[in-house]
Amino acid sequence: MLNFSFHNPTQILFGEGQIAAMSDSIPADAKVLVIYGGGSIKSNGIYQQVSDALANHHWGEFSGIEPNPSYQTCMQAVEVIRQQGYTYLLAVGGGSVIDGSKFIAAAAEFNGEPWDILAKGAQIESALDLGVVLTLPATGSESNSFSVVSNKETNDKLPFASPQVQPKFAVLDPTVMSSLPERQLINGVVDPFVHVMEQYLTYPIDAKVQDRFAEGLLLTLMEDGPKLFSDEVDYKVRANVMWSATMALNGLIGSGVPHDWATHMIGHELTAVYGLDHAQTLAIVLPRVMHEQRDSKQGKLLQYAERVLGLDISDETQAIDQAIEKTEAFFQSLGMKTRLSDYGVGEEAVDKIVAQLERHGMVALGEHQQVDLSKSRAIVAACL
Ligand code: NAP
Ligand code: FE
Repeated sequence: MLNFSFHNPTQILFGEGQIAAMSDSIPADAKVLVIYGGGSIKSNGIYQQVSDALANHHWGEFSGIEPNPSYQTCMQAVEVIRQQGYTYLLAVGGGSVIDGSKFIAAAAEFNGEPWDILAKGAQIESALDLGVVLTLPATGSESNSFSVVSNKETNDKLPFASPQVQPKFAVLDPTVMSSLPERQLINGVVDPFVHVMEQYLTYPIDAKVQDRFAEGLLLTLMEDGPKLFSDEVDYKVRANVMWSATMALNGLIGSGVPHDWATHMIGHELTAVYGLDHAQTLAIVLPRVMHEQRDSKQGKLLQYAERVLGLDISDETQAIDQAIEKTEAFFQSLGMKTRLSDYGVGEEAVDKIVAQLERHGMVALGEHQQVDLSKSRAIVAACL
């Protein structure tokens, strides 16, 4: 096991009705900016619950953070904060609103050009405090220090990370899921599934606790994920999926193990160029990464095949073939497409995506930097 420091300071308020309980977590003298997206919170009642909970706080709002939050929109919010003196941010939304709010929190206090946080990995010395009301369980952003922001003028979708932007608290009320459209429910199962795989399907294999936590999350997503699509969905199904998505990327299963993230980095380029949803890209790329990396990941692929998929692994080659097929079949069973051609994207994608990866310095991906540009090229070509 690798050395690690594990510290997740985000307070989780979990359960039905917990939005009402959040006001104790926000300082009484804070001037709160509520940040949200395109307005789904207005039609599903979440906005009302938030405004009720903030009844004793001084607050205002900024809306319009788009899916795959843009640098340009985030900078408009920074302007509002600077002009009106907000001291605390409350993100109400899914990964895009939360990631955008993290960037806003850092940019508002940044001396210099905030784009450098994304493009040059500029150090973040301080950020505004941030709380979260999660409306779409998927990304884990509600209790981690990562954020991904896009520059739509230049086709860049770039990540940054800083403990300064880790949310102080996150409200996870599973009932918010009742208004999610099917497409977002599918995304919400696939993204956390791939988050687990990026941290689990790596070598060497010596972290038994992390592995078994990871397997528990994968099994839960496979068991309860498909139940989200029935007409009557149990609260407990939503609760299990929601908590799996948070646990998939809150630092716990990723402590002491190498991380891959090749699927995500290639996926970000596909979103930047073709506008596919984040999870849509992952469902296309992951099976090809598993295939391209089947030798270096052999031991873990077999462990996954046996313990998560229940496959007989006596014939190792066949078991790995089946593990890759069953993973893709799981995504398809949810209604997710798993090929670029399913979205009308053709062969020209290969050169374009490789050029994007090169431009962004993503030339040595994978848990041991083993995925060079020629391997990424093979992965993207196999995605067609
Ligand atoms: P999202 O982009 O935040 O939201 C997608 C859509 O779902 C939006 O149109 C949103 O509407 C709608 N929506 C959200 N909650 C809803 C609800 N309760 N009812 C009805 N509609 C609802 O989706 P996401 O998958 O959560 O986030 C994707 C982003 O997160 C990507 O940019 C991805 O790269 C990033 N990401 C971040 C991390 C991380 O660790 N930070 C990890 C993985 C991915 P509104 O606009 O009205 O809210
Ligand atoms: Fe993700």
